[in-house]
Amino acid sequence: MWGILSGKVALITGASSGIGAAAARVFAREGAAVMVTARRERELSDLVDELTGKGFEAAYTVADVTRPEDVDRAVSGTVQRFGRLDVAFNNAGLGAEQAPMHLMDDAVFDAIVDVNLRGVWYCTRREIAEMLAGGGGAIVNTSSVGGLVATPVAAPYVISKHAVVGLTKAAAAEYAKQGIRVNAIAPGTTRSEMIEAWFALQPGIEDLLHAVTPQGRTAEPEEVAEAAAWLVSDRASFVTGVTLPVDGGYTLI
Ligand code: NDP
Repeated sequence: MWGILSGKVALITGASSGIGAAAARVFAREGAAVMVTARRERELSDLVDELTGKGFEAAYTVADVTRPEDVDRAVSGTVQRFGRLDVAFNNAGLGAEQAPMHLMDDAVFDAIVDVNLRGVWYCTRREIAEMLAGGGGAIVNTSSVGGLVATPVAAPYVISKHAVVGLTKAAAAEYAKQGIRVNAIAPGTTRSEMIEAWFALQPGIEDLLHAVTPQGRTAEPEEVAEAAAWLVSDRASFVTGVTLPVDGGYTLI
């Protein structure tokens, strides 16, 4: 069966839940062999069983994106298992702990920047090295609407996600001539473990978010995954360095 990722080998980080797990299903359905990675092994193993049970090619590597040696193992493992690396979705991320900026604990800043920025930095560089060896490729990084506009009491998250936009532009400009495209997506409110945890902590926040989202609802993770699949596919062959809002219009108003 033909799909927009037919014949591609994909690495997806943050695939044990939410948007990353949805992306594994969408990428596989669109024809990619997928290597999924995160820290929780049981979730990854269940996902791979589900995908291979449907006849798709899938495998997992347990990896923490804040550890370059883990990232190296995930990328090398992809090449060992599937022969090369064509596309990568650097999606692992940590939610914002809420506090006014002047009271924010430095340890919270470090933890969020470590995953959301340093993790994407380690992944992007290692993937690019592999893609240069393979003659090209495409990468999508997960930023956020918080990477395009600011929201109060979430400074480390906003800072880290703006940095992902910058990292994406820098990599796109640097490697365009070598056949590597690098883009980002900026999801708005999307149903996942991260957002459900926030909704539980702050009753009423979901309605507030809907009120400032023109489409007036929370996205399903598959809707975000579809945008990532298109961006890494050859259908987006002249698109590089952009951050695509997938936000129901949140950043319009
Ligand atoms: P989830 O909490 O469901 O997913 C987060 C994923 O990141 C998990 O698979 C988690 O796996 C992984 N992860 C976290 N820390 C690490 C780490 N150190 N190393 C490896 N993997 C890690 O939430 P979402 O699906 O919503 O989040 C996915 C991305 O989307 C994030 O980058 C988030 O910031 C972004 N986003 C989400 C929005 C939303 O409304 N849901 C809105 C805007 C952006 P594990 O714990 O197993 O390691």
